[in-house]
Amino acid sequence: MTVLVTGAGGFIGGHLVDRLLESGHEVRAVDVKSLDDWQQLHESAENVVGDCSDAVDARKIAEGTDEIYNLAADMGGMGFIENNKAECMLSVLTSTNMLVAARDAGTKRFFYSSSACVYNGEKQTDPDVTALAESDAYPADPEDGYGWEKLFSERMARHFREDYGLQTRVARYHNVYGPLGTWDGGREKAPAALSRKVAEVALGHTDGIEIWGDGEQTRSFMFVDDCVRGSMEILAGDSVEPVNLGSAELVTINQMVDILEEISGVKVERSYNLDAPQGVRGRNSDNTLFRQIYGWEPSISLKEGLEQTYAWIYDQLKVRG
Ligand code: NAD
Repeated sequence: MTVLVTGAGGFIGGHLVDRLLESGHEVRAVDVKSLDDWQQLHESAENVVGDCSDAVDARKIAEGTDEIYNLAADMGGMGFIENNKAECMLSVLTSTNMLVAARDAGTKRFFYSSSACVYNGEKQTDPDVTALAESDAYPADPEDGYGWEKLFSERMARHFREDYGLQTRVARYHNVYGPLGTWDGGREKAPAALSRKVAEVALGHTDGIEIWGDGEQTRSFMFVDDCVRGSMEILAGDSVEPVNLGSAELVTINQMVDILEEISGVKVERSYNLDAPQGVRGRNSDNTLFRQIYGWEPSISLKEGLEQTYAWIYDQLKVRG
């Protein structure tokens, strides 16, 4: 069986390829970036540089595959998605062309990585949140740009299943983090950005860190190993409706910095940039449906996951000097 992972040069894709190879699959790994820029490169995979947003490339990429994990997208943390809405929406070309290519190649199963950014903004105005259940995506008022693209592509995946019989599955990821992810350059998300800032203090480069907003906004964060396991189970399973894939351990950004201080052994001076992009005020994952279907839920603690993430980012900074 040949399994295709698009976006394989990125963070989650790289970890997924690793796990698929470990479980004995033949893997075609595809990314638009040149091989030198892939976050992980696995020699035993068929590594292909290709553009999934291009209809002709997409056909070649999908040819002969039994299953597809479509993770390719132009994305990043809040700083990126709030300032690059058109670029985020252009990922619709990737979603569309990969679905068409999968249908025409006779691929059996197709996974789409959607996001908690599809959820209605009005349900996320309080840091003391009610966790988001799958039904909270409608009536639709998702994150502008990025969230609308995800919601549209979810529906397209649904209709390709209903109309063409392509077995599509959709996971709504909630903030994924871990080693080997983007940690600087503007696309990094809060766990990587804050790990980097605290590591800079630990290395004596600076005394303080800047926090975006007042630090009281809440989120949950899923370690990448839980994400990969959940994605594989969702694609293999029979349940066809979009499902949350996230941790339910809710923290404020200030609490995440507390954990990083504990891990690093340094106290940091905190300054707050109230004008920086912050996204919604509070968001958590309601895992009732996921638990019912799969019998477990992401539970690697933030402390445990950040220990690994911080250590990896600290090493990257040290190498850079
Ligand atoms: P990432 O940016 O690390 O990886 C995405 C990869 O897709 C990149 O390597 C990029 O080069 C590649 N790509 C972009 N356009 C492409 C194209 N046209 N053809 C081929 N490759 C292309 O992101 P990630 O964190 O690994 O996220 C993977 C998926 O999960 C994305 O669809 C993202 O929207 C979704 N997601 C991620 C999170 C998260 O917290 N990381 C949360 C919700 C949803």
